Amino acid sequence: MPELPEVETMCRGIGGVAGQIITGVSFPRRTRRPILISPPAGRLAKRLIGSRIDAVERAGKRGVLRLAGAAADEPERLVIEPRMTGLLLRVPPPSDAHVRMVLKFAEHPPLIFWDRRGLGTIRLLTNEEFYRRCGPSVLGPDALTLAGAAFHSAIHHSRRPIKQALLDQRVTAGIGNIYAAEILFAAGLDPRSRCCRISRAECDTIATVTRKILRRAIRLEGSSIGDETYRTADSRPGRYQRCHQVYGRAGAACPRCGAIIRRIVQAQRSTFFCPGCQRRK
Ligand SMILES: [Zn+2]
Repeated sequence: MPELPEVETMCRGIGGVAGQIITGVSFPRRTRRPILISPPAGRLAKRLIGSRIDAVERAGKRGVLRLAGAAADEPERLVIEPRMTGLLLRVPPPSDAHVRMVLKFAEHPPLIFWDRRGLGTIRLLTNEEFYRRCGPSVLGPDALTLAGAAFHSAIHHSRRPIKQALLDQRVTAGIGNIYAAEILFAAGLDPRSRCCRISRAECDTIATVTRKILRRAIRLEGSSIGDETYRTADSRPGRYQRCHQVYGRAGAACPRCGAIIRRIVQAQRSTFFCPGCQRRK
């Protein structure tokens, strides 16, 4: 958390900063756990002031501000990774204590990065560094554009469980624990199924339901669940959690077949699935 739909929603929500020139930068430190900022805050602030934000983009589960101008010798990107509890906001944050970065503009409200647990990161990257950290060897095709053929060739040689492959950002970028569970339910596949047993046709199904679920989750502005803190850029909860079929529903009846939804642990993460309608391969 946040995953592709949540980061996409936040990036769209702060999209109004495109075209704005950064006139002020601050990195408040009011908590004991400082987040990773690279280069260090003082140097980064100097690089950012006077730069124009050309565009707001997304790379997997990261928000990316494409920068041009004054302070930079070459185009750079400010890459913000929310990790567990990071939020990109254009309105006052849930609490002052966990504000990690404030970018100010002459003609736009400030852009705030807030992170309660402080596991997020902020990095200013040159083109070359961006390619190294977010290029195709780190982030596979974006899950919104996932194609069955590419997915099949990326996984068919592997014996690991299909759920792990969906979480592997090199296979496809943007999927995390919530959407992996929902995708495998929609595809009718047990999350423990070995990748090498998944057919090309089943990969087509996975790709189709992935695109459909993620697009719908973006329309509903992502999932806000339990004690997680995800909010939209204007600090409203998302609505896709109402559509979850299996995630977080252990012990409840499957909406499709009525069997009891199970929770298991795979690679230290909770996995939810219906033993009635998800086949193990
Ligand atoms: Zn079922």
